[in-house]
Amino acid sequence: MVNTVTGAIAPTALGLTLMHEHIIFGYPGYQGDVSLGGWDAERARTEVKTQVALAQSFGVKTLVDATPNECGRDPEFLKAISEETGLQIVCATGYYYEGEGGTTYFKFRSALTDIAKEIYDMMMTEVTVGIGKTGIKAGVIKLASSKDVITDYEKVFFLAGARVAQETGLPIITHTQEGTMGPAQARLLTEAGVPPNKIMIGHMDGNMNLAYHEETLAYGVRVAFDRCGIQMMVGMPFDNQRIDLFAQLVQKGYVERLHLSHDVICSWLGRPLEMPAPVAELMKNWHLGNVFQNILPGLQAQGLTDAQVRQIMVENPQALFS
Ligand SMILES: [Zn+2]
Repeated sequence: MVNTVTGAIAPTALGLTLMHEHIIFGYPGYQGDVSLGGWDAERARTEVKTQVALAQSFGVKTLVDATPNECGRDPEFLKAISEETGLQIVCATGYYYEGEGGTTYFKFRSALTDIAKEIYDMMMTEVTVGIGKTGIKAGVIKLASSKDVITDYEKVFFLAGARVAQETGLPIITHTQEGTMGPAQARLLTEAGVPPNKIMIGHMDGNMNLAYHEETLAYGVRVAFDRCGIQMMVGMPFDNQRIDLFAQLVQKGYVERLHLSHDVICSWLGRPLEMPAPVAELMKNWHLGNVFQNILPGLQAQGLTDAQVRQIMVENPQALFS
């Protein structure tokens, strides 16, 4: 069964699924900007519902919210959105990578206690009992590493998450910074005993090297091009490059282990974010319709069949959760 924010469902009920998005997200530190930021629930609802309606217009039934615990994850808000829109939402347990996460909490505790056990207990509680007092269970384990390194801090989360995944059968989804450390993540998690079919290495579309993707896929894991539409960050490719490389991976026979998503943030926590005009132009397709409006049509122009579209968007998420 799959834990959604409104209860457990069968994997076959997932339907068309976006594997890595954010209903709301804030970089740690947003909590301090209360005077000019703060939480405007009505603004957030409007922004989120606009994106959800767009996704649903293409038949999306389920969204995996990959927001780490310390980046504003709010299971009750997700539950309200799910109930109001009918979108099934799976939320995550896990902390963000060292460079952009809220690291001081567990770093401070590590001087005094065994944080490996604390983090394992936290994740295990969140997937089996619930998050806080909500009774809402996380349905995926989210792990994240830095550019060109999995730091010691991050490794503690990887090993705790691997243990929880083994003991519960829940899937793991990851963040690779700028598409680096894909093979290292795959090796660490599979050597820790996680079945490779339960691992989705994320943000791999930050790297446009075919051999690097095959090196990662050789571990038997899944690979996600889950930042479709992001064209402004350092090292990030354009969507046409994503389409070309993804099509090559399909042609090489990896279609059963490939995923597409956007890493969209429907509503930012903190102050509303205004993008400068040139950035906004590059980011104009960063929304929950981009995979359907641009990426899949681009792939179909390179020979992707309707059955393969269904494989990537429906059957692969179902297999990851089964
Ligand atoms: Zn993300």
